[in-house]
Amino acid sequence: MRPREKCGVFGAYRTEGDVFPVLYWGMLAQNHRGHHSHGFATCSGGIEAYTRLGLIPAERAPGGEGPRVLPGRVGVANVRYATSGSSGEESLRCDAMPIQVQGASRGVAISFNGNIVNVRELQERVGADAGSSDTHALAQIILQTLEAGGGLKDAARACMEGIDGSYSIVGVTDDGTLFAFKDPVGVKPLCYGSGGGVHAFSSESVGLDINGLEHVRELIPGELMTVDDSGVTEEQVVPWRRQAFCAFEFAYFARPDSRFNGKYVYQARMDFGRALARSFKDSVNRCDVCIGIPETANDAAYGFHEESGLPWDRATRRHRFVTQRAFISKADERADIIRRKVNLLGDRVQGRYLAVVDDSIVRGDTTRGTVGRFRDAGAKEVHLFITFPRIVGPCFYGIDMATYGELIGAHMSPEEIAEHVGADSVNYLGVDEYVRETGMPRGKLCLGCVTGEYPTPLANRLSRGMRERLRRGDSEKGRIYE
Ligand code: SF4
Repeated sequence: MRPREKCGVFGAYRTEGDVFPVLYWGMLAQNHRGHHSHGFATCSGGIEAYTRLGLIPAERAPGGEGPRVLPGRVGVANVRYATSGSSGEESLRCDAMPIQVQGASRGVAISFNGNIVNVRELQERVGADAGSSDTHALAQIILQTLEAGGGLKDAARACMEGIDGSYSIVGVTDDGTLFAFKDPVGVKPLCYGSGGGVHAFSSESVGLDINGLEHVRELIPGELMTVDDSGVTEEQVVPWRRQAFCAFEFAYFARPDSRFNGKYVYQARMDFGRALARSFKDSVNRCDVCIGIPETANDAAYGFHEESGLPWDRATRRHRFVTQRAFISKADERADIIRRKVNLLGDRVQGRYLAVVDDSIVRGDTTRGTVGRFRDAGAKEVHLFITFPRIVGPCFYGIDMATYGELIGAHMSPEEIAEHVGADSVNYLGVDEYVRETGMPRGKLCLGCVTGEYPTPLANRLSRGMRERLRRGDSEKGRIYE
């Protein structure tokens, strides 16, 4: 099963004219970050919001099923995958974002990307329903601070000082102020751009590009930015000691045309492919063709081809209109989804020695299905080259890989994984090589799931506790932060 990101966020402020078209295109450009639900909230005298299940609809969908246009010059939007709270339809509807909360004197709507590790503690603190998502608790913290007479800086500080986890948040208050802040280690992406009387915050730079906005910069960990009729303000709410940007964004989550730390994601992926070809010459020498698993590994496969000199054959094609909307949990259903999504050109594979480039191996079932199809099509040998290093631990920051038991890399060596998935070899890019090709210093990346060292204290404690329970032979209880 492919890992799921939890959410993409977008928020915009317009000095003149309705903001909704900016929100719509900015969010549509990031629909890859969440398929379960989408939603919009704007402020025009008061906050108006709606959410729906599924993908953002086409602007002019047949049958009048297109987006409902909201009034106002300022607003936020969200796309979501459910990795916190339940994935039943009722919960998906309840937890769809933006989350709007209204108190006696103030109101706010927020769009959130991340995961709160100490969510139970937080829910108790603000009196939020224990069955709801972490976003409800966050919205309550912000609302309660504003109702008590505090400002947005106080609200952001209340979040930053009481929460362990990752979060990039954009929100709108009932007085028409747009705000955005990042957790003090900056795990999730969030950038700021402007142009033509528009100021916007977006998970990825593609949300700015599609609106013709200039990408100004990534928000600093622990920073709050606000936009209202008096202009843009930037405030460091809490000091930050280190940044821990999710390293997996480069290999898998982000669109190739997004930029992080000044480097296009597609360029990083090409460099991962080149580094793989340099690192595993023995395996490369056994192959006569290079194939990428679309879409995320295509750029890496091209870099691999350039570096290795192996011909690159696009023998796998992704069905453009097959999208995964349901929350799928059974292994046999997952295999069906993969088969439908990626088609194989059998005669390009038959009798050949394949170098197959892919972005990651999480649980191993997807990979085993893919290798099986290459074998069925007559491949002589299948060597896997994986751009993201071996995943050896869970993610506590909003990526849907939450237990050691489900991660094949946590309990098998690359050789054992190769045997399990039916490949002739599995070649993972090393952590040092991966870090180098992102263009970011190691000290500014989160590498928790590939090194076992997490950037926040509670995540480290949870990880130690989980490993200790496994050593004692106790079974895991699913996502222990829920
Ligand atoms: S643990 Fe892994 S997936 Fe999770 S934020 Fe860190 S690098 Fe990203």
